[in-house]
Amino acid sequence: MDDDSAWPVSYLACVPRQIGVLASHGQRPGTFVPPWVYRAVAYEAEDPFRQPVWVCSHNHNNLQDAQLCGSAWAQYSGPRDAST
Ligand SMILES: [Zn+2]
Repeated sequence: MDDDSAWPVSYLACVPRQIGVLASHGQRPGTFVPPWVYRAVAYEAEDPFRQPVWVCSHNHNNLQDAQLCGSAWAQYSGPRDAST
């Protein structure tokens, strides 16, 4: 068996990450919400599928906020809370 693929556990910490922004409809019945919400996402720069390794939990009202959120996350290198 020469399948040497390991789970990307420590690997995530050292691979350059790319920050992107996801835009989606913020649909909540009965409440006024902006038509679009933005979320920062991070994915590995080398991942051809751009599977997010992180998505922020906010609903940003504009693209710039989401970009700032993503870059703030990218600069933070301490332990991350992966409980959610
Ligand atoms: Zn955010």
